[in-house]
Parts: sequence; C-alpha cells; structure tokens
Amino acid sequence: MRMKLIAGNWKMFTTAASARQLARAVVQGLGKEERVEVAVCPPFTYLSQVAEVVRGSPVALGAQNFYPEKEGAFTGEVSPVMLQDIGCKYAILGHSERRHKLGETDAFVNRKVLTGLRLGLHIILCVGETLEEREAGRTSSVLQGQLEGSLANLEPDTLPRLVIAYEPVWAIGTGRNATPDQAQEAHAFIRGQIAKKFGEFGARSLPIQYGGSVKADNAASLMRQPDVDGALVGGASLKADDFLAIVRAALA
Ligand code: PEP
Repeated sequence: MRMKLIAGNWKMFTTAASARQLARAVVQGLGKEERVEVAVCPPFTYLSQVAEVVRGSPVALGAQNFYPEKEGAFTGEVSPVMLQDIGCKYAILGHSERRHKLGETDAFVNRKVLTGLRLGLHIILCVGETLEEREAGRTSSVLQGQLEGSLANLEPDTLPRLVIAYEPVWAIGTGRNATPDQAQEAHAFIRGQIAKKFGEFGARSLPIQYGGSVKADNAASLMRQPDVDGALVGGASLKADDFLAIVRAALA
C-alpha cells in the first residue's frame, strides 16, 4: 500500500549546467516508470532550471530547506510559498547537517514542518542518532525526542503529506550504511511512535525512507525490509547512473 520514494539530496553540489544535465539524465532514465516515486532536490539556485527539465515527467522536484513564513522581512531566506510557486512538491527538513552544523533545534524544525504541511508541501522530515548516542544505547530515546519535538501540534489531516527519513548520522556521507536489520529496527520503532501519536492507519500509510550511504549495491537489501519505504540519497544521487540503479532496486 505504500509506494517507495527515492529522493536525491544534491546538497550544495552542482552548477547550473550540471544540475540541468543530471536532471535530464534522471528524467530520461526513469521514462514513464510510475511504480516508484522519484524526486530530485537541487540547491535553491537551480530549482527553477531543474523544474523546467522535470516538467511533464514523473520526476518530482524538492527543496532542501525553507523558512517557516509565507513572506516577509527575512533577508536571505526562501519561503514554502515560493518553492511551490516554482513547482516544488517536496522539501527536506531537519537534515542532520542542518541540525548539527547549523544548529537547528527540534522546535525550529517543528515550526517549519507545521508551516510547510499547512501550505501543502510534502515534507521529508529527517531524524537519526549520532554514533555516540547509538553506542550509549540511546537510539530509541533520541528518535522519540526528535519525533515528539519535530511533530508537536501536527494537524492530523496533514499527515498524508509527511514522509520520515531515518538517517543515522554516523552513516551519512561516511560510506558506512546501517545494516538492513538496524534499519528495520529503527523504522519499526518510528512507525510505532507514529501509531501511538496518530493511530494505526496513519502509521501504516506513512512512508519511512532510509538514508545514509545508500548505494546501488546495498539499496535492494535495505529496501527489502518491511518498514523501509525507499531511500534519501546524498552522494550517489549526483551520478544519474548510480541514482537510477537505486531507483531500480526499489522495484526489485
Ligand atoms: C543525505 O544527504 O541525506 C545522505 C543520506 O547522504 P549520503 O547518501 O551521501 O550518505
């Protein structure tokens, strides 16, 4: 009942020309495949150009962040309304790089999640523990805290636009992915927390992606787990062939 979602987080990479080229290669490689949802998330500066490339194709467009206001005197920020205006369906929020390198708190992520969902965006909310937290046996309590903080006061009718990405911080960009069993355990825990908060139906319908060094050769075994509904892909999303191989693994 849950369609897998493969999203490419291009982070602060690409140029205008390489972003267009990468998007074109993903569009061509995906063709009319609609059994899996595919999204690309370029930097803000290239969103409009990539929007032109993916228009009319099954490839959805996503942003990597936004500021939680419709408009206003917020120099340097971008609003969710602006993202929708240029064709974004998704936005990634609470990525560990923003939490740990830019100091974003659960409370601030929560403001963004509520605003984005209320305005109609689909939100990919990232949660995940550090290596230190995992080794101290605190994975569940960290995930529980991030979910409670980031999803506080969520309006239940916006839940269908929420996606959660479980991204263990120790696996992001390190080449060290969680094992399928570790991923399944964390995903089942997350689904259980959502069930407690929003009920069984909402939890069963919620896509939970895995993220952290997903590559063509580990994607299938991760996505074969019953609670792993796709992947949020960083490094491997910057090469169309690698990204498309992960998309194909979602169909295996
Ligand atoms: C990410 O950016 O969300 C990510 C998981 O990166 P990588 O695939 O490079 O580990």
